Amino acid sequence: MTCNCISETEKKFPGMTFKKKNVISGSIKSVSFQFTNGGINCITHSDVELTVEGFSKLQHTVLMHAYCPFCGKPTTKETEENSNDKTDQP
Ligand SMILES: [Zn+2]
Repeated sequence: MTCNCISETEKKFPGMTFKKKNVISGSIKSVSFQFTNGGINCITHSDVELTVEGFSKLQHTVLMHAYCPFCGKPTTKETEENSNDKTDQP
């Protein structure tokens, strides 16, 4: 991620209530790790179930988010650079 939304959001869980009880801590589980030249990048994802020809069971995979679901910023430097290239946006 090019932002701190995952950690900033996790910091907000303590003090919230869930089913009328106080939340002690929380962590966002839909995060994948991408290895880059500079280290490891954490990117949120959506879980996907696929029905695939030749497989009797549903196949599970993840769809990596190109943009942060919290603030809308690109999740990778590549997405950021590609979005800057677009000149046809209103
Ligand atoms: Zn964000």
